[in-house]
Amino acid sequence: MPDSNPLLVRLETLPGISAARLELLERLGLRTVGDLFFHFPRTYEDLNDVRPIAGLSAGSIQTAQGEVVEIDGRSLSDGRTVVSVVLSDDGTHCLEGVWFNQAFAARRFRYGQRLSFSGKPKWYRDHWQMNGPRVQILDGGDEQPGVVPIYPLTEDLRPEHLRALLGRALDLHAAGVADVLPAALRHRHDWPSFDRALRDVHFPASLETATRGRRRFVYEEFLILQLALALRRREVRDEGRAPILPVTPTIDERIRRLLPFQLTADQDRAVSEVCRDLAAEKPMQRLLQADVGAGKTAVAVYALLVAVANKHQAALMAPTEVLARQHARTLDRYLAHSRVRRLLLTGALTPAERRDTLAALAAGDIDLVVGTQALVQEDVRFARLGLVVIDEQHKFGVHQRARFRRLGVDPHYLVMTATPIPRTVALTVFGDLDVSIIRQLPPGRQPVATRWEPKNQRERVYTRLREGMAQGRQGYLVCPLVEESATLDVKAATQTHAELQAGPFRDFRVGLLHGRQDEETKAAVMESFERHELDLLVCTSVIEVGVDVPRATLMVIEHAERFGLSQLHQLRGRVSRGPVAGQCYLFAEPAGDEGRQRLRAFLRTRDGFALAEEDMQLRGVGEFFGARQHGLGELRIGNLVRDGDLLGMARKDAFALVAADPGLRRPEHALLRAAVLERYGKTLDLAEIG
Ligand code: ADP
Ligand code: MG
Repeated sequence: MPDSNPLLVRLETLPGISAARLELLERLGLRTVGDLFFHFPRTYEDLNDVRPIAGLSAGSIQTAQGEVVEIDGRSLSDGRTVVSVVLSDDGTHCLEGVWFNQAFAARRFRYGQRLSFSGKPKWYRDHWQMNGPRVQILDGGDEQPGVVPIYPLTEDLRPEHLRALLGRALDLHAAGVADVLPAALRHRHDWPSFDRALRDVHFPASLETATRGRRRFVYEEFLILQLALALRRREVRDEGRAPILPVTPTIDERIRRLLPFQLTADQDRAVSEVCRDLAAEKPMQRLLQADVGAGKTAVAVYALLVAVANKHQAALMAPTEVLARQHARTLDRYLAHSRVRRLLLTGALTPAERRDTLAALAAGDIDLVVGTQALVQEDVRFARLGLVVIDEQHKFGVHQRARFRRLGVDPHYLVMTATPIPRTVALTVFGDLDVSIIRQLPPGRQPVATRWEPKNQRERVYTRLREGMAQGRQGYLVCPLVEESATLDVKAATQTHAELQAGPFRDFRVGLLHGRQDEETKAAVMESFERHELDLLVCTSVIEVGVDVPRATLMVIEHAERFGLSQLHQLRGRVSRGPVAGQCYLFAEPAGDEGRQRLRAFLRTRDGFALAEEDMQLRGVGEFFGARQHGLGELRIGNLVRDGDLLGMARKDAFALVAADPGLRRPEHALLRAAVLERYGKTLDLAEIG
């Protein structure tokens, strides 16, 4: 019975609402009372900052009152009309309100009338001016200044109509909405009730109450998300069963002997955290976060070999064919003298090869498989899968993690990401995982010298490249990322490649790598670059992720302003992989302040974690981490930059709640449970909790 929930009541049932207005609302995506309630103000104008005219200052929104001493309306030479109304509160200081093309505005006012203007004052010649101020007629009984909500994009719907409608909807329906937040949590944090909070959001008495109201709903949203993650974690980890894969001293010694270097302290710590998980029956659900080039692969290899040593199969999944092959080659090197039976499973196999490969996997004749998404296709079966390692997890979504389970096994999971993720994002997107972090780079790494070069230095930069390549170094030239158009990216790269090979680098071997090449070609180009059959690789951001060629230490990034900070950091990470100091030259023409700030941060900072935070602050979460890409959907109200404290709070409460009431079966949690299932049941495979 949908009508029992007031939030589902259709707007057309509200009294006195016209068809025209309904259509405007519909265009904003507002169809139900709930839609309307949760159409939150974007911000507020605080009109409580009332000052004498002499005390106004430029910048923030302020309010001043006075008597009308002048009214003027005239036409400008460009055809616009301008209305000007001047107030004074002491006979000396004046505040002028101006309106363009609103001749009717003049008709509202008369000399001697007492008005208040609210807006941003600007000093003009000898007096303050406000462009299109909000006006109140003080002796006409208008309401007092207060806090005015500013709604996002209302098209032709006038704010006062929206407010009137909201007022009616609140009066009729808000009290009837059952509060999702259990009383215990509401009291713990002293949150206002649903009804109160909603009124405070839309009709606040002060900025403080507006903020409190909003924060309550943000908390609620975060709580539901974190409950979903807590439930998923419980389901997968606490109720799943994975093989016990212990590491004996012999196994440990054998594995370490295969690695060509000693693990760093951070790698060692990550390895022991992984080993502790593998030795338990609960499936490991661990995220390995590391800065670029910090050496995640070695940790992955260690884990894979633990599984194999325990007579189980292990899979390593990479987001691209290039990376899958690179991993396969690394394993070939490390395992050249071992009996581990290995296999590369990619989309490039012929149907016959694929059939044989799958048969071998299913029969248990393969110990270690490396592959792309091809690994999670329906027909892939394992004889005894013990561990799945997923590289560059941020390229995959939550869905993909769910997939292996449906194959009927409970393997241990290690997911790795080289894009350091701000804490708040990690708690959201990977909130059901344990986390290991590698910050330290392997010994002997030299910092990359990064320079933002003026346009006229191109020749000099090319000379540096030629000098370096003559000494046996290799380089990348990264072509501009063309927004929204992979085709243009390719064109830019292809053209640059031809020009460079024919011109400044005619004495060198220049290769081309871009996203539109087929996987075979890409992998072939990458391999010849790795074998040093190419000196310079002209590429799009395909190489952004994971590519490891220690001899390549030179990089030019064209139009660096078009890349995000984290992306730039990833790119630069490619030339910081060996003992020789890398050089990274940027050409960039940032249009605005934000762009310049981003580049300066990049020049200043080498710490990927710090850059990720900064990137998110500058660009917002959506841009930083394509909201759709991670599969959890957008947050409706909460904002990971602004509301980080609430996220931590909600997470603690959610995990405690699930520990106390694992299936959310208690009656006081029924509404929460329904809300969690409705929002995340499908995405997170929670259908059968409890
Ligand atoms: P990422 O974490 O970015 O995936 P990789 O695993 O590709 O980094 O490692 C980057 C480079 O560092 C590789 O060339 C690898 O051989 C090297 N490396 C990793 N760990 C160590 C170590 N402990 N000592 C020396 N070199 C290492
Ligand atoms: Mg890697």
